[in-house]
Amino acid sequence: MDATGPIEQDDVQRRILAQVHAVWGYDRLRPMQEEAIRAGLSGRDSLVVLPTGGGKSLCYQTPPLVADRTDVVVSPLISLMKDQVDGLRACGYPAAAIHSGLTPDEMREEIAQVRSGACRLVFASPERVLTPWFRELANSAGVQTFAIDEAHCISQWGHDFRTEYRQLATLKERFPGASIHAYTATATERVRADVIEQLALHDPAVLVGDFDRPNLTYRIVPRERPSQQVAEIIRRHDNEATIIYCLSRKDTENLAAALLKQGIEAKAYHAGLESEERHATQEAFAGESLNVVVATVAFGMGIDRSNVRCVIHAAMPKSIEHYQQETGRAGRDGLEAECVLLYSSADSLRWERLIERSAEQADDPESIITAQTGLLNEVRRFCTALVCRHRVLSEHFGQAYEPESCGACDVCLGETRGAAESTVTAQKILSCVARVEQRFGLGHIVEVLSGGDSENIRRYGHDQLSTHGLLGDEPKKVIAAWVHQLVDQGLIERTTGDYPVLQLNDDSLSVLRGERDVMLTRSRRASRSRPADKGWEGVDRDLFERLRMLRFSLAQEQGVPAYVIFGDATLRELARHVPRDRQAFREIHGVGDRKLERFGADFLGEIEQYLEEVGENRVIEVKDPGASMRINGGG
Ligand code: ADP
Ligand code: ZN
Repeated sequence: MDATGPIEQDDVQRRILAQVHAVWGYDRLRPMQEEAIRAGLSGRDSLVVLPTGGGKSLCYQTPPLVADRTDVVVSPLISLMKDQVDGLRACGYPAAAIHSGLTPDEMREEIAQVRSGACRLVFASPERVLTPWFRELANSAGVQTFAIDEAHCISQWGHDFRTEYRQLATLKERFPGASIHAYTATATERVRADVIEQLALHDPAVLVGDFDRPNLTYRIVPRERPSQQVAEIIRRHDNEATIIYCLSRKDTENLAAALLKQGIEAKAYHAGLESEERHATQEAFAGESLNVVVATVAFGMGIDRSNVRCVIHAAMPKSIEHYQQETGRAGRDGLEAECVLLYSSADSLRWERLIERSAEQADDPESIITAQTGLLNEVRRFCTALVCRHRVLSEHFGQAYEPESCGACDVCLGETRGAAESTVTAQKILSCVARVEQRFGLGHIVEVLSGGDSENIRRYGHDQLSTHGLLGDEPKKVIAAWVHQLVDQGLIERTTGDYPVLQLNDDSLSVLRGERDVMLTRSRRASRSRPADKGWEGVDRDLFERLRMLRFSLAQEQGVPAYVIFGDATLRELARHVPRDRQAFREIHGVGDRKLERFGADFLGEIEQYLEEVGENRVIEVKDPGASMRINGGG
């Protein structure tokens, strides 16, 4: 049709980019954002599938600005709404949230704003949106467009089903003629189809973005000594945010305590804590006064800290969707981040038990158990296969992965490799278990294989065994890791109780008889140079730290999360280009008009003061990781 001819399209594009630049200081749109924004503008229903961190919010924030109208966003959590409204207001974007956490005065104020028609976005819960009261309010502001955030919550096939979302099926009836735009990060076709059906979307534009997150480095390593391993990873991210996911509430508390003992300030977070404590932890994390949170999956949905640099899974997640969503909380600002999964097959057993227990209450436990066990097996395969992690994830989400090697996962970086002669090694270990008559635990077996000379070895005469010293060339840690892997693969049994001993089963025997092959992996120490350190290229780290502290104190003063002031990407740009005046400052990625007015003087002042102090002695990061160079002069 003529109305969408090329000239008009360019005009729309120009208007979109002008707003995005003025409000957020972004120069371009990410993949799918333009298409999604256009659907919002043209009033065509849409389903937008973008990975976590892909930039879904911008897609529904932009159309009402461009069209000068009020839209409604349905959101599942008050904390999510509040964070978004804080962030939008800091950019000078008029937004309101109507929820039960408001005082009567605040509520009156928000309502008045909405009625005046000055709001561009109104956030509300699904329950509230469907009340006659809200309908009247929305109509008074001429609302014609609804965005449904976390839309997969409507589907019972999804991993986050919420009964409140079910009622949204009547949205189309209550607001005839309105367009609905569903947003989710969910992968499965079934859930997508369900969302479309439940919301009764009419001929929707289905827009699916790229699921690969090139800025994330994935690592899967065998879990050996979890608290030390976790501490070691956290230390790679000094002064940066890390989220650690555990399987149970108890695990989060134990791990947080263990980290504290090692001098790492960490807080546990789970649904069983007093809401006050939970809230305090969440605020501290968002406000950057706390960097390490050890959590169950209850943590994250309401967390919008965009500079999380590390996500650790201390246990295997229950599905690849969960893994994608939880690791998706790393590096939302597009800068490099690391995701480490500590794998042990013991987790599968725990999950199987949990799945059975939670299915007991369901109408049709069998089908739920089958479905969930299927998801579990997918993660297990993901953890045990030696295939590029980026590739497996992309393919899981139905997308081909082109690169031969990603350069950003343990497999492609050569950190995890199949051990040469795996089967022979496994046979050596298994025969050692047999030689000690299946009466000893892991520590002793490792000791014998490495040729140790402990009191126990001498007492039992195990230095006389043919398997004594059979793996003497390998470090004990590596031997222990292999024993763990054999346990994980079900090729060694470990008894329960206070003194677990290792025993053989039928599968062990077939390995010993040479009837089956075994794959053991060798994981090398992750290289100390952080991957993708290029994100720091040309950055004056000392200046970055100064600006970070300034951001922290401004955020405290104003009672908002730090990222609401500026994201890390913007701070790095500032510490890279070192702007000296307002014009140069406005050019920086992430600086919009409002933020120039509000924060320009503070940040320019800090930069000036810094340059005065350091004079000729600035140090900036260069390409070669770890190396820095001195440069001359303050500008
Ligand atoms: P999602 O909701 O899809 O998980 P968000 O909407 O929170 O992701 O966006 C993630 C981050 O990306 C936010 O910090 C956001 O400001 C930023 N962002 C979004 N779109 C752009 C863009 N076009 N250019 C630069 N940054 C963007
Ligand atoms: Zn890879």
